[in-house]
Amino acid sequence: MDFVKLRMHKSPKNRETLPVDPKKTAWMITLLYGTLGLLWVFFSDWVLKTLITNPEHLAFANMIKGWVYVLVTSLLLFVLISYAFSQASKYEQCRQESYEELRHIHGQLELSEQRLRQQLEDNKEYQERLHYLAYFDVLTTLPNRLSLQRDLEAALEQKEALALFFVDLDNFKDVNDFRSHEAGDRLLQLVANRLLDILHERGTVYRFGGDEFIVIVPCHSEQEAQKLAKEIVISFREPFEYAKGLVHLTPSIGIAHTHNEQWTSADLIRFADLAMHDSKKRGGNCYTVYHRQLSEGTMNRVIIEQELRHAMEQNKLTLFYQPEVVLPYEKISGFEALLRWEPQEAISGNVEQVIAVAEYTGLIIPMGEWILREACTFLKQVHELGYTHTCISVNVSIAQFSRFNFPQRVQKILAEVGLDPAFLRLEITESVLMESYDLIDQQIEALRAIGVKMALDDFGKGYSSLSYLKVLPLDTLKIDKSFIDHIPENSKDSFLTSQIIAIGKNLDLQVVAEGVETIDQLEYLRKHNCDRFQGYYYSPPIPAAKALALLKESNPLT
Ligand code: C2E
Ligand code: CA
Ligand code: CA
Repeated sequence: MDFVKLRMHKSPKNRETLPVDPKKTAWMITLLYGTLGLLWVFFSDWVLKTLITNPEHLAFANMIKGWVYVLVTSLLLFVLISYAFSQASKYEQCRQESYEELRHIHGQLELSEQRLRQQLEDNKEYQERLHYLAYFDVLTTLPNRLSLQRDLEAALEQKEALALFFVDLDNFKDVNDFRSHEAGDRLLQLVANRLLDILHERGTVYRFGGDEFIVIVPCHSEQEAQKLAKEIVISFREPFEYAKGLVHLTPSIGIAHTHNEQWTSADLIRFADLAMHDSKKRGGNCYTVYHRQLSEGTMNRVIIEQELRHAMEQNKLTLFYQPEVVLPYEKISGFEALLRWEPQEAISGNVEQVIAVAEYTGLIIPMGEWILREACTFLKQVHELGYTHTCISVNVSIAQFSRFNFPQRVQKILAEVGLDPAFLRLEITESVLMESYDLIDQQIEALRAIGVKMALDDFGKGYSSLSYLKVLPLDTLKIDKSFIDHIPENSKDSFLTSQIIAIGKNLDLQVVAEGVETIDQLEYLRKHNCDRFQGYYYSPPIPAAKALALLKESNPLT
């Protein structure tokens, strides 16, 4: 610290005691004068008589004796008084010096006091800034997670009835990926303002992190909370202005209401988060009020994870193969590998749920690699039987696909198994494409460079974007089962199916229809020149041995 060092002067000598005490000095002079006078009175005659014998001289001396006395004593008085005065003036000088020095010290003290005050002020500002940084979000100026924790705990201690809204922006990653991080930052500021506007001081908005905001509102009923959530969703209908353009953003909201529950602040946030994820699952741009089943869903996830880990360790996972059949001849052109587990292995979920847990926990990485190796090994066996043109389709998840070394891993497995890459087709879903177009595009290019084929799975199920079809180097389009389910009786689905087939063909893509269960569906597809189909009509997914048997039966080698 820059404290001012006070230069303490040596204290002036004899500052505290007077060098000459005026009374004492006066008494001294008087005493000396009196003593001399008395000595003179008593002894001057005797001294003169002793020293001077001549009567004439003696008479003269007696005459001037008085004069001499006056002269000598005057001189003495002069010496004594001037000594006393000189001491007094020296003291005065010393006093003056001390005074000056005190003034100087006083000045310095004032200066250091001033600086101390300044430093105190600076410290206060610094502390305020530290407090701000600790409790507020710099980008949006909203209170942050720490504030939320503090306020929430205080409110729960007071047993206040409140609702916590977990607001997450849908697909906000796209803003950062397709626009820029600056755009992302600016939009977050705009969203913060929008939330503040809509709340009208009814509650507090916090930035929880990333594109997540939390709103706390004193609230006595779930209906009240839902009303506010609706207001928030509606307020997002108005687009955000950015760089002279308009950006549409939608929120996914999860609500947790304190009710009469003994929830901690962490519980409230967790439950609202679970509810928010449910809103996401429902496609976003909506709200969900937390209910117990949501937590049970999480419990399920934990259980599935344990069971899946166990199955992986015990090598109890297996693959089934569903034939893919060429139209119009009804010959097997390939198989799709689909995950299964040994029947005695209890896993509390269906394949999709297990895949979702594997993606969530990261288990999909080792599992996906095993699936790929297993499927390629199966196909190698098929080729060795003489069916050298048969293909294998393997589903890949975004978690696998977006790994930077995924194409190299695929290449390594193909080399290990000794399989021609042209017979491997990787299936990705539209949701994979939605994640990050740039990255996906590069990965597909790299895989195509190796010789691997790419299929777009579940086409039409999500937000189908025809623009992807145009730019991505795909070779196969798989029409989602939900369309096939209603052909030919549903004219809309039938029309859409025929159009998807036509578009695919125009773009030079192979079109595969999934989930064909009836002869009528098959006839419709045949009529509209669909290339291939899969479905229970021909065969459900079957174990490897059965798949080989079916292949031999349907495609006898000549
Ligand atoms: P998908 O890739 O669309 O697979 C087709 C699903 O439709 C399979 O369900 C298959 O059994 C079922 N299916 C085929 N034909 C019919 C039919 O005619 N009628 C009916 N009702 N269903 C039919 P499955 O095996 O339960 O797989 C569900 C999803 O799980 C798959 O959808 C895929 O997205 C995912 N999945 C399965 N295996 C894997 C895998 O090895 N890796 C990854 N990443 N995902 C996988
Ligand atoms: Ca598939
Ligand atoms: Ca599919």
